[in-house]
Amino acid sequence: MSDKFDVIVIGAGPAGYVAAIRAAQLGLKTACIDAFVGKDGKQALGGTCLNVGCIPSKALLDSSKQYYNLSHNLPAHGISVENAKMDMATFIGRKDKIVKQFTGGIGQLFKANKVTPFFGKGKLLGCKTGDSKNVEITSNGGSKQTISATNVILASGSVPIELPFAKFDNKFILDNAGALDISEVPQRLGVIGAGVIGLELGSVWNRLGSQVTILEALPDFLAVADQDVAKVAKKEFEKQGLTIKLSAKLTKAEVKTTSNKSSEVALTYEDKDGTHELTVDKLLVAVGRRAYTEGLLADDTGVKLDERGRIAVDEHNHTGVDGVWAIGDAVRGPMLAHKGSEEGVAVAEWIAGKAGHINLDTVPWVIYTEPEIAWAGKTEKELKDAGVPYKIGTFPFAAIGRAVAMNEAIGQVKVLAHAETDRLLGVHMVGPGVSELIAECVVAMEFKGSAEDLARIVHAHPTLSEAVHEAALSVDKRAIHKGN
Ligand code: FAD
Ligand code: AMP
Repeated sequence: MSDKFDVIVIGAGPAGYVAAIRAAQLGLKTACIDAFVGKDGKQALGGTCLNVGCIPSKALLDSSKQYYNLSHNLPAHGISVENAKMDMATFIGRKDKIVKQFTGGIGQLFKANKVTPFFGKGKLLGCKTGDSKNVEITSNGGSKQTISATNVILASGSVPIELPFAKFDNKFILDNAGALDISEVPQRLGVIGAGVIGLELGSVWNRLGSQVTILEALPDFLAVADQDVAKVAKKEFEKQGLTIKLSAKLTKAEVKTTSNKSSEVALTYEDKDGTHELTVDKLLVAVGRRAYTEGLLADDTGVKLDERGRIAVDEHNHTGVDGVWAIGDAVRGPMLAHKGSEEGVAVAEWIAGKAGHINLDTVPWVIYTEPEIAWAGKTEKELKDAGVPYKIGTFPFAAIGRAVAMNEAIGQVKVLAHAETDRLLGVHMVGPGVSELIAECVVAMEFKGSAEDLARIVHAHPTLSEAVHEAALSVDKRAIHKGN
């Protein structure tokens, strides 16, 4: 036994590394084990989010947006550029540099907060009530050591779901990591799944000139979002050149060598009209992610998995096994970085005997496409299905001076409030800068605010936030800058 800790965290993604830092801040002797290996073959902290998720995707989204704006937005401002080019090595290299900066930053934060990092695969060994918990670490080279702690936080995250008939090779059939590292713009890109990842990465390559076709098995576009928002978004994405086929289920994908010795991917998909073929140069499979628990738990830990293979936890992220907690993508709830981080903070505080807090009902969702999509709380359909009486207020960005001045007057804000109490139940947005605007609504909802609360708050003019203000006013049919 080499060392004894108060807390061992397994996994250094946004759930695990945040839990480790908060535990150390609270005076707990903390270790954090992670097995992720970066592009350079070295340990890279930060998990999916920093290495192959949130951060690199936003870097590529931003670069591709600047490039796309040159030809699609700047001419309206009187700015024209001829023969604009995208240097692919710079495009990908900038993203890699940002990733390195942030993953390296976690190491610095661990040092500053006295979190002890371990590199390797952590496995929780069998535990009894009251015992300290043992975790075996297997290094990349295969050597083993065991460390122990009073509390263990499992934060092993998630991995992309692989379709059995479209296995990832990351050359032609790509997962998220592969789609963030394409070195040449594919002429034709197929995307399976019109979820958050498919839409964001599909947008990146569409903006650089790929002909992007998205196949989505469900009949509704963005079924998790409010359908008024989803409708606007779909129309805008199609205007940008994305081909979106709904009720289209991929059934086969085959990498084929062409006559000129390059390769392409032959797809077969089914919709209501029958079976269709589509050929693309690369295929991104983005059909969702699953909790990752391989090799995490010895047989006799007592930790249970739920019907979807996620680590089963109660509302306090406790597994039911004394001293063992689980957070982030590995447990129920939305697979979002900030949700995992807040669970990490809450668990560290519970372990330290403090009042941790996490409210899954107000976790904001953001899709960083153009226009952006953001929401928090219930959709109109969810309220209808649950029989909750509600009022709606909407306001279009077309009537917002700042949005028009930016030449980005697309989309709307939709506020859903309880018909009797006026309490905010959901806010749904599609339009410019809504990834930032949603924060105000989350604060209001967390404080159990009403539409009237939002309506009575002074919003700066001219700003995009006036759309939130006016939509809240519109709940009671008193928006100023539109007919009610
Ligand atoms: P992870 O980030 O998956 O980290 C888990 C870590 O644990 C990994 O490093 C893994 O190697 C390690 N690990 C697993 N098992 C073991 C073990 N036994 N021993 C040691 N180490 C282990 N979310 C957002 O909120 N906003 C976004 O904009 C966003 N964009 C995304 C874009 C893409 C392309 C993808 C793929 C995801 C995106 N997400 C986004 C989702 C986000 O990345 C995840 O919700 C988040 O990373 C989950 O955090 P986590 O700490 O639970 O798990
Ligand atoms: P998300 O879970 O948000 O990442 O979205 C993944 C999407 O992929 C969901 O909307 C699924 O309906 C979709 N999907 C899953 N399997 C297939 C398939 N074989 N063909 C097309 N779409 C699929």
